Amino acid sequence: MMRKVAWRRLVDRLNPDGRALRESEARYRELFENVPDGVYETSLDGRILAANRALVRMLGYETAEELREAGRAEQFYVEPRRREELAEELRRTGSLQNYELELVRRDGRRITVLENSRVVKDENGRELCYQGTLTDITARKEAERALVLARDQALEASRLKSQFLANMSHELRTPLNAVLGMAGLLMESNLGRSEREYAETVQHSAHFLLEIISQLLDFSSVEAGKLEFDASVFRLRDVAEDAITMLADRASSKQLELVCSIDPEVPELVRGDAARLKQVLTNLVGNAVKFTEKGEVVLTVAPVKDRVGWTRFEVRDSGIGIPEEAHGIIFEPFRQVDGTTTRNYGGTGLGLAIAKQILDKMGGEIGFESRPGEGSRFWFDLALAPAPGCRAPRRMQPALLKGKTALLAEPNLAVRTTLEEWLRGWGVEVTQDETAKSDFAIIAPSAVASEEGVRCAVSAGREMQRPACFLMAPMGERACCTPDGECRPTAVIHKPLRELSLLETLLRELSQKREDTAAALRPLAEQLGERRGGLVLVAEDNKVNQHVIRRMLEKLGYQVAVVENGHEALEAVSERRYSLVLMDCQMPGMDGFEATAAIREMPAPHCHVPIIAVTAHAIHGDRERCIQAGMDDYITKPIMLGDLGDVVGRWIDRSGEARAVRQERNTPAID
Ligand code: ADP
Repeated sequence: MMRKVAWRRLVDRLNPDGRALRESEARYRELFENVPDGVYETSLDGRILAANRALVRMLGYETAEELREAGRAEQFYVEPRRREELAEELRRTGSLQNYELELVRRDGRRITVLENSRVVKDENGRELCYQGTLTDITARKEAERALVLARDQALEASRLKSQFLANMSHELRTPLNAVLGMAGLLMESNLGRSEREYAETVQHSAHFLLEIISQLLDFSSVEAGKLEFDASVFRLRDVAEDAITMLADRASSKQLELVCSIDPEVPELVRGDAARLKQVLTNLVGNAVKFTEKGEVVLTVAPVKDRVGWTRFEVRDSGIGIPEEAHGIIFEPFRQVDGTTTRNYGGTGLGLAIAKQILDKMGGEIGFESRPGEGSRFWFDLALAPAPGCRAPRRMQPALLKGKTALLAEPNLAVRTTLEEWLRGWGVEVTQDETAKSDFAIIAPSAVASEEGVRCAVSAGREMQRPACFLMAPMGERACCTPDGECRPTAVIHKPLRELSLLETLLRELSQKREDTAAALRPLAEQLGERRGGLVLVAEDNKVNQHVIRRMLEKLGYQVAVVENGHEALEAVSERRYSLVLMDCQMPGMDGFEATAAIREMPAPHCHVPIIAVTAHAIHGDRERCIQAGMDDYITKPIMLGDLGDVVGRWIDRSGEARAVRQERNTPAID
């Protein structure tokens, strides 16, 4: 060995150029062998002349020798004729860049490579061979393929989810509509006490179910950024009190007091999205009721101090409270204070997340304060534009009440304070002294120790010439305190109390004669709603729904004609003038959209009839379809009496004539 090195040194000394050449060759060979990409040289007819280590391994061989013996270049192509195509391209252009190819390894596995190659020519331009590099991009390609697949699957899943939600929304809401509507009608008929309670339970359970369905649907819509907002005029008081009333049953089963107190400075009518506001409120009140075992839940609505036009809604409870460490998570979706919450209290953990999203979209702010064992106070502030109209009931001082004295017996401080505020607002003096002389009494049975106690309070009232004794009772609970009727109260006031209803009851009961009642109630007429007239055409295929809608409209004071499908609706509209059409969107044969489009093609005045879509879909996109079809407004199933009254009232004036605004076809109320 030593001798060999020494000999080379001697030769190198004698021939320095040869040494340089060898060194340079060795360097290039090292580079050739060690680059991570495959490098090759092939003859024009595809024989492999040289292949580096990376290429040998890429194709699954041990040595370059083995590879060379394995065959010609085209054998490694998944499609051998591609090699000829490539060679042609190379001859034409001289080189190829980043050409994607599929090759087969010795073990039969396929790999994807990027090829860069060129033609080597002699000084006369004669082609000698091909040289090039191959980069193995199989892993990258597989990752890309997996990504594309995952994306396609996600898109498909999302499409299926939307489709499923739309279908479910329809499928679930349609029968619920019937259940709710029928239970509502049942409750308004002459029922015995137990039957009424059964009907109420049916109605409340259906509402509860609807709530969960809506929550899941809403969460999906929020997630997809598809939440829609309405901007119509509504009565703030109704929304707040409805939110409380909806939870009355749950609260009374736990013997919780529910109170709603609205500051008279808050505008009665405002513009905004009533349904979304009610959703946020019922969520907060629902949570308060759920997490409270004793005491009360109070909703207050008042102007925000030093922030003109802003209203604060606050829900206070005397429940379990929220530990400090959970304060950060409760607005996150699916999060509950601890894992046992669902087991103990139920719920999806979505309510507050949805509430927050809705308020964000409405430009509102939400927050809370809470201490374990002491209760919670959730609040949110919203800017709600006031609309001109009704006065706050507390701003009225009806002659019948002004200067009167009322005995108030109510042990719960929150309820008592609210009642006192209302009564004082109406000009009534309030006393809690049972022996004091008073004009009427408002008594909570729990304020007196026993039935006997109530009997005494009521008869004492008689003896003391109190003309009236009003007994407060939770909704659905026994109202009369003694079965003999001896101490039957003048009227029962249902809890949770509603300011306007209480005022109406007092005025109705305290006025002596019928004519007086009418006069006493006149200032409230606008708020209580007047009966309206008009002929409404209902196009609806479902028999139960036909019945429900007909009864509701009749209750609202309208005359009703019913048809079964789009064809019949067309015929009816062409034969007779209707004040309005309630058009179910999904009907067999001709659906609501087609029928509407056809009505809009009719000669005047038939084409001008206001058309309200009745849709079971509460999903994004339905409004647009309704507008496109030429509908003016829409109402979602399940239809509530109040909503139906509002929407129909928007389009028919009191004489039963379609409102003039109808003529302006380009201003639909839907958007
Ligand atoms: P859900 O009530 O369906 O579980 P939410 O998003 O409405 O979901 O509430 C999330 C969690 O916040 C609840 O599970 C509960 O642990 C806590 N929480 C909300 N409101 C109250 C409250 N008023 N009192 C105590 N804990 C509450």
